[in-house]
Amino acid sequence: MKPFDYVKPASVAEAIRMAGEPGSAILAGGTNMLDLMKVGATQPDRLVDISRLPGLDRIEWRNDGSVRIGALVRNSDLAYDDRFAKHFPAVAEALLSGASAQLRNVATVGGNLMQKTRCAYFQDKGSACNRREPGSGCDALHGENRLHAVIGWSDQCIATHPSDFCVPLAALDAVVEVEGPEGQRTIPLEMLHLLPGNAPEQQTALQPGELIVAVTLPAEASSFSSHARYLKLRERTSYAFAVVSAASLLTIESGVITEARIALGAVAAKPWRAKEAEAALQGVAPSPEAFVRAAELALAEAKPSGDNAFKIELARRILVRALTLASEGTPAEMPALPGSVLSAHTGANHVA
Ligand code: SF4
Repeated sequence: MKPFDYVKPASVAEAIRMAGEPGSAILAGGTNMLDLMKVGATQPDRLVDISRLPGLDRIEWRNDGSVRIGALVRNSDLAYDDRFAKHFPAVAEALLSGASAQLRNVATVGGNLMQKTRCAYFQDKGSACNRREPGSGCDALHGENRLHAVIGWSDQCIATHPSDFCVPLAALDAVVEVEGPEGQRTIPLEMLHLLPGNAPEQQTALQPGELIVAVTLPAEASSFSSHARYLKLRERTSYAFAVVSAASLLTIESGVITEARIALGAVAAKPWRAKEAEAALQGVAPSPEAFVRAAELALAEAKPSGDNAFKIELARRILVRALTLASEGTPAEMPALPGSVLSAHTGANHVA
């Protein structure tokens, strides 16, 4: 591993100043950053350790019903917060379907948002990768690409974003709070991650030196709590990234869907919000036909980037299933295998 400096700022202001210096990288839980450093895919000159910064590890409920989640809140602490899980069950389900219990105990909210693609070529210094080294090419285009993107990709990069957590956050209009050299600003989570276009190395909308300090869910987001599911299809039952995933959130009154929120995971370089599908469900009764139609709309732009046409049909089917389960109601208890299509039955035991 390349030698690097290690600094530990005492305040957000100090962290921003340090992070703005060329060659710096931010360290929080380190579950992704340290792996990338070990294989040489990331080689910072300086690690800015923000893991003990005061004030960023709180879940704050505001009087208007919104909730502000500090960037250093651990994934497991958020998922097991009773009030949070009750108001935002699909977010808790997504969090608990990610990684392993040990990793969730360490990984942070901000780090989850900022994690890098798990494209194997990105992590292999010997491979061409425009995202890691601009202009070098993309070995995934003609390589092993069955898990790569089917929406929003370019011939410069076909990687996907690996987060489960970000998928329901995008559906629920979460907002990212950022502080940087120019002050504070907010970014809709849906706008945080960038599609590759001609500059896949620009993975997020953050500017140099900017730091995520919190994520906010608006009060309206909890109105979906009675009909909210996150489903994730993976190649083994746990501790695996999604092949495809779907967050499905509905409000239903008198047998009619009054509002729908849908986002897909592992299909693009960002969590993919499906607004046309959402609009098609508004004002209709839940039915297999309505859900199939919504899934067709959600994947209307999809096209294979390689040996992955199967993901398009898989994503349609996962979305239909997620919508069906959401329409039946959020389980009173978290499924034994959160997010898993194998634990679709309601009433399964919660495993803490
Ligand atoms: Fe790199 Fe993107 Fe190509 Fe993967 S898909 S090798 S991350 S440019």
